[in-house]
Amino acid sequence: MTQPTVSLNDGRQMPQLGFGVWQVENGQATGIVKEAIAAGYRSIDTAAVYRNEEGVGEAIRQAGVPRADLFVTTKLWNDDQGFDTARRAFDASLKRLGLDDVDLYLIHWPTWKRDAYADTWRALIKLKEEGRAKSIGVSNFNIPHLQRLFDETGVVPAVNQIELHPRFQQKELRAFHAEHGIVTESWSPLGQGTLLKDESLAAIARKHGKTPAQVIIRWHLDNGLVVIPKSATPSRIRENVDVFDFRLDADDMRAIEALDDKEGGRIGPDPELFT
Ligand code: NAD
Repeated sequence: MTQPTVSLNDGRQMPQLGFGVWQVENGQATGIVKEAIAAGYRSIDTAAVYRNEEGVGEAIRQAGVPRADLFVTTKLWNDDQGFDTARRAFDASLKRLGLDDVDLYLIHWPTWKRDAYADTWRALIKLKEEGRAKSIGVSNFNIPHLQRLFDETGVVPAVNQIELHPRFQQKELRAFHAEHGIVTESWSPLGQGTLLKDESLAAIARKHGKTPAQVIIRWHLDNGLVVIPKSATPSRIRENVDVFDFRLDADDMRAIEALDDKEGGRIGPDPELFT
């Protein structure tokens, strides 16, 4: 299966569809991630705080796919922000994963009240220079946080991974990303499953002979977003990657655009308050 990729601002390519493993137990992660790789996913999104990096690393070794064909993302947890602590946390993540490098390393949250994210970013810049984090980015950063990174270091994150789904479309932040060459990656792309009963999405799904989950994933892809749906159920893992045989039309895109509840659609924590 040839899957689409997006170009990052450092010249590298990233698969547009990936597999998220939040709330997957370490003991189950190996089986579930192997299932995902067998189903066709080539990008895996974990984080130190998910406590499943060992299980994910084991899946990568057992999957029978060359390491070079996989795109592995992990994230630095808030307690480890700061220049030296971030470097140590990165080493610990690589050790748990059993890898020599990751494809993408993200600062998980700005936690701006700690005032450590700019120094943390300097540590990530050095990890990239050393080639151990092949690309670097952030997660849950708002415009002022991003602006501060540009102003202080001149290095623009390759990716900002943010909550994004049809009820919370983040148009202003997406426009800022586009202006500055930052790829937008959607977390909780299915609204943690809450969107799957929506009648207008169900109608679009019937029209295409697909499921609501597939329609939502297609909406992210058709908007040029990177999307990382999660499931621990093998049939749904396969369903969520079976999205490359249809496209949404202009009517579908308009109907989904109308579902945006702006700030009211947010499900997860607000980065302004999560400190
Ligand atoms: P999601 O929007 O991907 O929804 C996952 C849930 O939807 C599943 O647990 C399941 O209940 C349901 N589901 C999935 N596929 C389905 C299908 N085909 N049919 C029916 N139900 C289905 O939610 P998520 O796990 O919160 O987000 C995806 C990934 O994003 C995470 O695993 C993680 O990697 C990442 N994430 C990052 C952050 C961050 O702060 N950076 C925060 C949350 C999530």
